Amino acid sequence: MVEGFTAALRALVEAESPSADLLAVEECGDRLAAVGESITGAAPERIPLEGGPSALMWRRGEEDAPGRVLLLGHRDTVWPRGTAAQRPMAAEGGRIRGPGVFDMKAGLLVGLYALARLDPRVPVTLLVTGDEEIGSASSRELIEAQARECQAVLVLEGAAEGGALKRARKGWSIYTLRCRGRSAHAGLEPHKGANALVRMAELVAEAARIEAPDRGLTVTPTLAQAGQTVNTVPDCAELHLDVRAARSADQHSVDGTIRALAAAPGEVAVEVEGGRNRPPMEEDAAAALLERAARHARELGERPLESAAVGGISDANLCAAMGVPTLDGLGAVGGGPHAEHEWVDIDATLHRIPLISALVDGLAEHPLPDR
Ligand SMILES: [Zn+2]
Repeated sequence: MVEGFTAALRALVEAESPSADLLAVEECGDRLAAVGESITGAAPERIPLEGGPSALMWRRGEEDAPGRVLLLGHRDTVWPRGTAAQRPMAAEGGRIRGPGVFDMKAGLLVGLYALARLDPRVPVTLLVTGDEEIGSASSRELIEAQARECQAVLVLEGAAEGGALKRARKGWSIYTLRCRGRSAHAGLEPHKGANALVRMAELVAEAARIEAPDRGLTVTPTLAQAGQTVNTVPDCAELHLDVRAARSADQHSVDGTIRALAAAPGEVAVEVEGGRNRPPMEEDAAAALLERAARHARELGERPLESAAVGGISDANLCAAMGVPTLDGLGAVGGGPHAEHEWVDIDATLHRIPLISALVDGLAEHPLPDR
């Protein structure tokens, strides 16, 4: 088992798949299709998507069987081509390192091996997209359509620290605030200018006051730019804000507040671009599944499952926002996503396989109560 899993992981890591490189992501799809066929005995359906890489889908069970479960993952990574040659996959003391192992090529294998354990009549879909790391613009519709027919979504992203499942994820909004004032000579007639940089600085301070970190709401100024020359009152300034919210209500109200701040009258006009990018995955979307997972883990003799609420986003946010019960972090156990030391604990990761097949099996037999 360990050898087979490791060899398959190496094959996937070597098929590098940076999101922006469509050809590479497609080639990785070819590799994944072959690897998946050898594990499950079935070739995936290849679904072309407009403006992005194709998706791969293994769909099992009767077409319209009730109680279908969606396993969800992505094959693109944040690593440019050539990284695997620079830092080849390496195993050491039960850990495997390499670009994309934790986020999330080992997770895809967990899904495939879980399928292989299940009775082929169990209604389950494994969907693998190729644009998650850049916001899932081309795959979003397909993900939502598949999630809509399912009673639950299990997302195969890497676990939180120590193998914890992810029961909640914050929502994400991004804003660009463009300030337009009036330029003037800073020495001769500064009073004739309208300083866009000063207005932007006020906005930074006002944004800080919206925050409520104690309830999971942060507003972080991330990028700023202003001015033309050292002796000119600047007529333009641009500010970027990154907003994370644990609650949907907060995400909406911050949106209103930011627009109201920008609309405040003054000599400098402020234009807002952007808005809500991903809704939060709130805790109740995961509660019932978390309980099931804990029970199966107990039955399998595993140590008690932990869970965590995290800041980062994934496609779990999309599914949870549709009201479909969603649990994330079911893939690889390890750490260092998007970091050079990215690693996977091979033994703990293999333990995910029986857990996921038990979850899917249990859901097929005893579906969640209707929402
Ligand atoms: Zn990921």
